[in-house]
Amino acid sequence: MNKRPPRSAAGIAGDFIVVTCEHGGNRIPAEYAGLFRGWRAVLATHRGFDAGALVMAREFASALHAPLVTSTVSRLLVDLNRSLSNRHAWSDATRPLPDPDHQRIAQRHYAPYRERVTAIVTAAVTAGHRVLHISSHSFTPVLDGQVRTADVGLLYDPARRGEAALASRWKAAFAEQAPGLRVRRNYPYAGRNDGLTSFLRRRFPPARYVGVEIEVNQAIVLGDAKRWRELRRAVIATFQAALQ
Ligand SMILES: [Zn+2]
Repeated sequence: MNKRPPRSAAGIAGDFIVVTCEHGGNRIPAEYAGLFRGWRAVLATHRGFDAGALVMAREFASALHAPLVTSTVSRLLVDLNRSLSNRHAWSDATRPLPDPDHQRIAQRHYAPYRERVTAIVTAAVTAGHRVLHISSHSFTPVLDGQVRTADVGLLYDPARRGEAALASRWKAAFAEQAPGLRVRRNYPYAGRNDGLTSFLRRRFPPARYVGVEIEVNQAIVLGDAKRWRELRRAVIATFQAALQ
């Protein structure tokens, strides 16, 4: 008798979570192997991919029963977290290529990824959901001589209230459940920078799309295995707490 109609009847179907990983691997497709001759050492570093980001994304998606979109092609071919008009979409190996080559790489290794993520978000929004997009990344502990002073970064657009609120609750959950971790907001990068989340923000209103990039410090990823496993567990548990 007290049963209320499902919330979806009012056009609010609740939150829908999607997890992505743009820098999951350092694979170079065979047809471009020649371009990367001599790049083996660089491909193995942060310039080639985000160490640990793929396993974190997989565990996150699995725990949250969320769809997962990942790429294991190196960002040195084309960076899935940059607009194609951004010169940093291309690396020193691919920037000098003529336009037709850029177009071919974009068609085969860039557009399908963006289209797949956009399709998932569009379908969920059309069904009445608010989408929570978590994009999984990692950062190098030292860049240009500067030591990064965080273990986890939560990147979002401060002008989008839903994103600011989620990041704030997520950080508070870390403080409660994993007080030993240094968690900073919009660090080591600003969440409003050019990227997949900013691309989606231009397409979906704040009430329908909430995009947060999580960045973990590679000092933990590449350090003690137990500590890294515990960090991944904490990331998931604190996110779940932040949803409550
Ligand atoms: Zn990344």
